[in-house]
Amino acid sequence: MHRREQTFKKLTERVPTWEELQDYYQRKRHVCSNGKRGKIYSLRKDKLTNNICNNITCAKCRPGIKRQLHQDIVRQVYQNDLDQHFVITSPGKKFRKKHNYADSFKIQEHEWNKYRFVIQYHYPDFKFIRLPRAQTNPTADNPIGYAHQHIIANRPNRVIHKYKDDKIIKTIPTDETLSFDWLTENKERYQLGFVWIRENQSVADYLHKDFYHDDEWVIPTNKNHVSTSRDIILRPYGNFIKDPDSIYFTEHADKQTIENTVMDRYGRTLPFEEYLKQYHDIYKEK
Ligand SMILES: [Zn+2]
Repeated sequence: MHRREQTFKKLTERVPTWEELQDYYQRKRHVCSNGKRGKIYSLRKDKLTNNICNNITCAKCRPGIKRQLHQDIVRQVYQNDLDQHFVITSPGKKFRKKHNYADSFKIQEHEWNKYRFVIQYHYPDFKFIRLPRAQTNPTADNPIGYAHQHIIANRPNRVIHKYKDDKIIKTIPTDETLSFDWLTENKERYQLGFVWIRENQSVADYLHKDFYHDDEWVIPTNKNHVSTSRDIILRPYGNFIKDPDSIYFTEHADKQTIENTVMDRYGRTLPFEEYLKQYHDIYKEK
């Protein structure tokens, strides 16, 4: 194991400080591009490269994952009319004294799950994309690294449920659409303690600017960077659209196998630089 990552493993026995986590995110994972994840030959690029690790915590891989996620989210925003953007934060000095930044992610996730249940009860067509992110503009009361969540959502119509003997017998749709006021009021009513909600910049503005702000992506490694309501499907991150004209080789494939496969499939030899490398290796051995 790489020394840096060993240090990080040790760190995770206690909660690393947010700065330590940030340092971890700013490095390339050791498994990334070291050849242990196999190689890819791309016909379009005429290049044989080591496969990358596709880990969101990896500084080399994250930019690609962010671009892919951005693309996917924009598509869903258009398809599902997700034109509402609000932000949920953890308030108050008291909260921050009691809970560290890592806890704030757990607590907010829990609170969000309760809250969206309430929303979906009244607005069954509620759809959302939730992006847990780290606070990166610290103030005295608001230290760095604590969780906030960007919620991108639609504006579904409210329904009223009619009951008989504790059973819903009728659901009546209304014209009223989900508003920010309703969200704020009902947060109080359902005693969702540890969250604050504020309306934020437009969905387009957020996706255009702050979405990419890299330090916001520095969240505990056991937390997902995105979750959605059931009907919104994003590609799992790290699954890039595969280049159709490429061949994947495992780490055990030798040069000869790679060469023969590329010749069979595309009728061409490996890029010249591969032969140079080979020549260089033989030369070194002598
Ligand atoms: Zn990587």
